Amino acid sequence: MSFERRFDYLLLGGGTSCGYCAAAIRDIDKNRTIAIVSADSEPPYDRPPFSKGFLKNDAMSPDDAHCKDESFYPENNIELFLQTPIASVHRGSKKVVAANGDEFAYGKLLYALGAEPIPLSIPGGEHAQLLRTASDGLAIRERAKSSKKICVVGGGWIGAEVAATLQSMGIAVTLIEKMPDLWPNVPSRASASAVKRELEKNGVEVIVGNQVAAIDSKSVRLENGNVIDCDFVIAGIGDTPRTHIAREAGLDVGARGIRANSNLVTSDQSIWTSGDVCEAEDIYLGKHYQAEHHLHAKATGAHAGKGMAGEPAPFDGVPYFFSDVGELSYIQRGYPEHAKESFVLGDPESPVLTEVFLFQDGRFAGGSDIRRDYKQQDPISDLFEALIKARTNIGALRDRLQSPSFDVLELKSLL
Ligand SMILES: Cc1cc2nc3c(=O)[nH]c(=O)nc-3n(C[C@H](O)[C@H](O)[C@H](O)COP(=O)(O)OP(=O)(O)OC[C@H]3O[C@@H](n4cnc5c(N)ncnc54)[C@H](O)[C@@H]3O)c2cc1C
Repeated sequence: MSFERRFDYLLLGGGTSCGYCAAAIRDIDKNRTIAIVSADSEPPYDRPPFSKGFLKNDAMSPDDAHCKDESFYPENNIELFLQTPIASVHRGSKKVVAANGDEFAYGKLLYALGAEPIPLSIPGGEHAQLLRTASDGLAIRERAKSSKKICVVGGGWIGAEVAATLQSMGIAVTLIEKMPDLWPNVPSRASASAVKRELEKNGVEVIVGNQVAAIDSKSVRLENGNVIDCDFVIAGIGDTPRTHIAREAGLDVGARGIRANSNLVTSDQSIWTSGDVCEAEDIYLGKHYQAEHHLHAKATGAHAGKGMAGEPAPFDGVPYFFSDVGELSYIQRGYPEHAKESFVLGDPESPVLTEVFLFQDGRFAGGSDIRRDYKQQDPISDLFEALIKARTNIGALRDRLQSPSFDVLELKSLL
């Protein structure tokens, strides 16, 4: 039998962003009611481990990735409705209807449904395991135990991470990317090349510029006719932010996400958005920006929560993406995808390499860094963040940036 309940704060999604949003609301507002409604069977959790350490560590359970301890929700009077996908949002009556018919009335709403992995739409594509949830991670870990050879389709960051992890478990891995190089969407092409070299050095077979045409339970057929035998196929070919319910509810939706102002408020003043599905006005970029990064989901979730609880402010976080491919640690700050030029510093073969990106007017647009010793990346990351926040023009240093031996930390002098 379905029910109807009302909550002052209703958080839709129950992923990374919702977890941090709920905590931020409770920090400010100790009394009003909060509920999280999620399609997942787990309370809010962090996803990065599921393409990395979780796959090779049997002792790790999904609980270890939870944003908060189990006791956090009852202790803070936050109600969790798990395995409760929502079907529609009715803004006029301020109600959300779940697929099972349950109705949730709200005072303020967070819409944070994340993104849906894109399935492989080729013959046999249903045999490929996708990776978004903790249960996907568990399924891969179980299948990997009885696999000698695995094909990973998609050479983006998630495919590269999974390939590196499985290879380190002694499994033969073939990674297949249709574009001419790995990490096709990563602005630092030098870092993408370093990742490919690293994977190949460790024994991963990397096939670029070729598509998978068909899959069956024991092999993958490429468009060039080659057949690769394998025990199991994993696909990481991108995702689509889950905007459809917001669109049906009449919210303003942009190219990849739900449009919001810099306070993360959507076109409806009672609805906030955060995480992968949020496309908010960015105060440094001067236009709408959408990012699918763990730390962005945390920061925008917490920020939306503060706004919902009565402390609104423009979001001033600087985008921060990280990826670990085997022993290589990659960080990326700011907006390199919006840059007009870049300079590579360091030795691509080692690889210890930093890339500095400039907007057309010479302003610092962002930076990336790849190396084995991730601890050395903290000061670089902090510097990149400070350069963005100060809107620093580094154009005057163009000549010096052309020397690969220029020490990136010298940019501090411009602050
Ligand atoms: C395996 C993996 C590894 C990653 N590693 C990194 C990394 O190393 N670095 C990095 O920066 N980023 C990484 N990311 C990206 C990062 O995890 C995401 O950016 C982040 O999870 C986004 O948080 P979110 O809250 O917006 O969405 P999610 O965490 O995806 O949460 C969305 C929630 O909405 C729920 N939902 C969906 N539909 C409905 C519905 N109809 N009704 C109710 N609930 C619904 C889902 O079940 C889910 O719980 C990784 C992602 C994955 C999948």
